[in-house]
Amino acid sequence: MYKTISSDKTKMVEEILSTGLQKAAPGDVVMACSFSVEDLVIIDLLQELAPQVSIFAIDTGRLHEETYEVAEALLQKYQLQINWHLPQTETLQELEREKGLFSFRENLDNRHECCHIRKVEPLNRALAGKAGWITGQRRSQSATRTTLADIETDRAHGDIVKINPLVDWSDEQVWDYATARRLPVNRLHSQGYPSIGCAPCTRAIKPGEDVRAGRWWWENPEHKECGLHRP
Ligand code: SF4
Repeated sequence: MYKTISSDKTKMVEEILSTGLQKAAPGDVVMACSFSVEDLVIIDLLQELAPQVSIFAIDTGRLHEETYEVAEALLQKYQLQINWHLPQTETLQELEREKGLFSFRENLDNRHECCHIRKVEPLNRALAGKAGWITGQRRSQSATRTTLADIETDRAHGDIVKINPLVDWSDEQVWDYATARRLPVNRLHSQGYPSIGCAPCTRAIKPGEDVRAGRWWWENPEHKECGLHRP
């Protein structure tokens, strides 16, 4: 199905991908790209390991300019196509007309509502009819991901296969790979942003803070998920 890459780190990715793709066969498997450094590593590996996997991204309408720059750099580097999915216009208009542009700061229900409209619903559309998807999730990323498996059954999307090839990678391993391969990482990372989501819900962290401390910083750690990765 694909060529072998010979390092311990990438060997594990190859095995996880191989098993996951076989589990999903003969259906279509897609890669969800949020332009994180993990996603860049996976996209780079996919060019050799599984180039048939197509890439999709969700444009919430609230992303940083720097994130769009990463998307453009990927297009230049790999000549690939990114299948963008945007929120439903009517629903988004209703939200902004009724609740304004920062309702997500008011309470957890409003935050979940915004994430549902801007992220979860477009994700559902992106995954409709697919047999599986690939994500850049890692166990060490947050308190909500410590028991993450390399391959899961995604019950929230019709029991399709969910493949997490970097599940066991450390921060250092991800960054070593990205640096060695000169990947076009988001320049916000060098300004104190280890984890980058929508602009109004992401801030730089201070030395010693958890890597996810800059995401929805007004909420408790156990709430810091946007609904894209439901159990
Ligand atoms: S991260 Fe913030 S702006 Fe983005 S969809 Fe969620 S609540 Fe809305």
